[in-house]
Amino acid sequence: MSKPRIHILALGGTIATRPDTTGVMQMGLGADDLVAAVPLLTGIADIEAETVSRVGSHSLTFDQIHALATRIHALKVDGIVVTQGTDTLEETSFLLDLLLDLDIPVIVTAAMRNPALTSPDGPGNLLAAVRVATDPWVRAHAKALGVVAVMLDEVYAAVDVLKVHPTRLDAFASTQTGPLAALVEDRVVPLALPVRDAVIAARAKLGPRPSAARNTEYKPVALLSMVLDEPGGLIGALVRAPDRLGYGGAVIAAMGGGHVPERVVGGLVQLATVLPTVVSPRAGGGPMLRQTYGGPSSEIALRKAGLIWGGRLHPVKARILLDACLRAGLERPGIAELFDAFG
Ligand code: ASP
Repeated sequence: MSKPRIHILALGGTIATRPDTTGVMQMGLGADDLVAAVPLLTGIADIEAETVSRVGSHSLTFDQIHALATRIHALKVDGIVVTQGTDTLEETSFLLDLLLDLDIPVIVTAAMRNPALTSPDGPGNLLAAVRVATDPWVRAHAKALGVVAVMLDEVYAAVDVLKVHPTRLDAFASTQTGPLAALVEDRVVPLALPVRDAVIAARAKLGPRPSAARNTEYKPVALLSMVLDEPGGLIGALVRAPDRLGYGGAVIAAMGGGHVPERVVGGLVQLATVLPTVVSPRAGGGPMLRQTYGGPSSEIALRKAGLIWGGRLHPVKARILLDACLRAGLERPGIAELFDAFG
């Protein structure tokens, strides 16, 4: 029986580093090197390896991920594995999920421990990702699963997965929903299917994808975190000169169920008239309140004043979605409707 064809696209990251002459880790390994380090791979799949870039994921760009989606779309294979750095995996996987509507598994994986350390996790994560990509249940449910991340033998939905620790081996989690599947021995054990109505509705509104094309008015999204006694200076600067600062939208990482310090409310309300401004929970994602608290800085007042409610999306994911909206040329009402579906 022929083996599934799995295409590995390597972007860089810790999984692709090697020591330089001083012992410091530098980007260097390509897709072929990653595959060569895991001889078991060829027993479970026909592997194609492609090196896309050799960069840390902290330096990846939206344009690179849009181009990656275009490349993935053009491939005629049974499954895709993207290897990259861990720093932005929670963002890139969600962006790919918004851009791709495929019926083959698309998996993003990475490594926390570099290849020069004892027991690096890169080879194990790559093997696990390919096992997931070739698993019959995953292949049968690929469309329902959407893009997933595989880290440390667990499978996570792109919309939920978060990097929850900067250095630990078990750095990834889906704090809202838990993993979709676990790898045990060489088996994939299914645990759950994700609720994807909001992602599917968002895709439909964003228009045909993938396309690296962007609306000519497009400008990136600023992310501002609300903290104890925040004076609101950056909000004021955005209100006064969004063009000079170069932003076309804003995400406000709000406290608790969707609250901000009272002193920034005036600026925030003004900002919502200047730029599409999305409020999202800094507490790590999860549905926010809509109608519990009163007062000027409450969720009721902020929503009434035109702030867009980001639903359960973590602020970094809300920023990914708002960026996609701006690229697609959506305006405030369409953007608000799209975010509303996220709860
Ligand atoms: N800074 C690295 C990156 O994201 C970290 C990693 O890969 O784990 O590329």
